[in-house]
Amino acid sequence: SRREGFSTVPNVKWEDVGGLHLLRQEFDRYIVRRIKYPEDYEGFGVDLETGFLLYGPPGCGKTLIAKAVANEAGANFIHIKGPELLSKYVGESELAVRTIFSRARTCSPCILFFDEVDALTTKRGKEGGWVVERLLNQLLIELDGAEHRQGVYVIGATNRPEVMDRALLRPGRFGKLLYVPLPSPDERGLILKALSRNKPIDGSVDLIAVGRDEACENLSGADLSALMNEAAMAALEERQIAQSSDTPPSTTPPSTIKKAHFEQALK
Ligand code: ATP
Repeated sequence: SRREGFSTVPNVKWEDVGGLHLLRQEFDRYIVRRIKYPEDYEGFGVDLETGFLLYGPPGCGKTLIAKAVANEAGANFIHIKGPELLSKYVGESELAVRTIFSRARTCSPCILFFDEVDALTTKRGKEGGWVVERLLNQLLIELDGAEHRQGVYVIGATNRPEVMDRALLRPGRFGKLLYVPLPSPDERGLILKALSRNKPIDGSVDLIAVGRDEACENLSGADLSALMNEAAMAALEERQIAQSSDTPPSTTPPSTIKKAHFEQALK
């Protein structure tokens, strides 16, 4: 379901996420294993953070990894978009926040994901006025009710951590800050590999080498996804042209995505 605010277990797998190994390890320790083996943690009296803030440039996998965490843990996922929450519920924003957390408790274990969370939390008194102020206060109340939100983990995502209200970053709220950087050259290759899982890449293509190519410098995961798509389009169109010529379709060789298609896409 793509309806906002409703829960489902997402279908994004770890293998769909390229790179980000440290982040994956952290989430495995802090969320996945706690959901899978709750008795272990109770037995040892371990008390760990349940709120996280992913920050970094756009399109580098914040949403993707949050979904993969939910999938890996077999947990429900509720996707809240900060700006939509703010505009949709003007005047009843506190109620909306209460409803979201209560829904998350109902479908626990659950990952509650706040995308563009900065929209809800711009430093008080600056932009936004009292709607933001009231929404933020309600959010703090819900986050502090940690003892009542068994099995609910909160992940926020932002490209602008510097505008976040400091109060939100304390332990027990969005207490653990995790940076999601632009991919390194080798990580670009790993992202291309992850993105190629459902694509007929020719055996001669070395995706790690493509990722290291200078032309890919500074590309985000989202940019690489666009690149992969363009390369696939180039291959597909080449095949269509071949098919529309005189050769009968049955003799057209099955086509794959080759190095030349990536080069064409990079242009
Ligand atoms: P924003 O800040 O714009 O919301 P984001 O960091 O949440 O961005 P995502 O929405 O997770 O970025 O990524 C957008 C798309 O880019 C993904 O759906 C995926 O196709 C691709 N992508 C980004 N990062 C990765 C990655 N590490 N591995 C595989 N694909 C990625």
